[in-house]
Amino acid sequence: MGSSIITGKTRICGLIGDPVEHTVSPAMHNAAFKKLGLDFLYLPFRVKPEALGEAVAGLRALNIIGFNVTIPHKVAVIPLLDSLDPLAEKIGAVNTVVNKDGELRGDNTDGPGFLQALLGRGVEVGGKNTVLLGAGGAARAIAYILAEEGANLTILNRQLEIDQAEALARDIAEDFRQAAGVMELGDENLKKALEKADMLVNATSVGMSPERDATPVPAHLLKSALVVFDIVYHPMKTRLLKEAEAAGARTINGVDMLAWQGALAFEKWTGQKAPLDLMRKEAMKALQKHED
Ligand code: NAP
Repeated sequence: MGSSIITGKTRICGLIGDPVEHTVSPAMHNAAFKKLGLDFLYLPFRVKPEALGEAVAGLRALNIIGFNVTIPHKVAVIPLLDSLDPLAEKIGAVNTVVNKDGELRGDNTDGPGFLQALLGRGVEVGGKNTVLLGAGGAARAIAYILAEEGANLTILNRQLEIDQAEALARDIAEDFRQAAGVMELGDENLKKALEKADMLVNATSVGMSPERDATPVPAHLLKSALVVFDIVYHPMKTRLLKEAEAAGARTINGVDMLAWQGALAFEKWTGQKAPLDLMRKEAMKALQKHED
């Protein structure tokens, strides 16, 4: 909060999800508000799936300035909103809502946050052969942004029958006239896909706490020529990142993307440039508490 006292002018924003107990977003945003002297407050709201409609109606009635949306509401919230940013519409998932004079507009800062995290580390995307693991909400956001930036995509996902990866590749082909390869996630296909790859992105939840010993890619397939980006941020250094580092690869962790997606939401709500480094530091501090 910008001032230490809540006043009649304090603007409220927050997060809806279930669970929200371990979110680091309040720490990131409230520290940023304070740093910029903004009379804003960010609150977490645990909202059960069956109460989502009531929650959004309540947030609307309370004229909240905006809110983040996390698991399990990123898709279900869409019909409850008044409009959608075109990228969020294509991705089919919303992680940020902005209240513009009573109109609730859905946006997605996960893909742009991912891209900014890469650019911030000096990694250009255009023309890069990229192996993307996963076809869930975050993977869709990342696939769109990578396709928009001209990366060549190969998507690997388990449960090929469910067709999520094929649907994603079809959507990319329609929107960007660009073919994306699709394979089932497994060691043989990983070996094939990684032979020509410049970049590997894990957008599955494999390796996330408490399954810290899990990794989506066997260590012997990692090589020094790769940029390896794991969007899992809890733990901050996953087994995949440790093994990629040991193989001499460049690594980027999920905290960078987490800070960036938060910073981009912050800018939409406040109209001010976000203090990114502070937000990253606060996110790491809050995550560290869960890791101890
Ligand atoms: P999601 O929509 O539930 O998608 C999960 C993905 O992981 C799906 O592709 C799923 O495959 C795959 N998966 C899950 N368990 C697997 C396993 N044992 N083996 C292989 N694949 C498996 O979730 P999401 O929202 O995309 O989030 C995915 C991860 O990204 C989470 O860890 C989340 O915390 C992280 N994330 C990070 C940021 C950030 O800012 N750093 C932002 C968003 C998300 P199926 O399709 O086969 O089920």
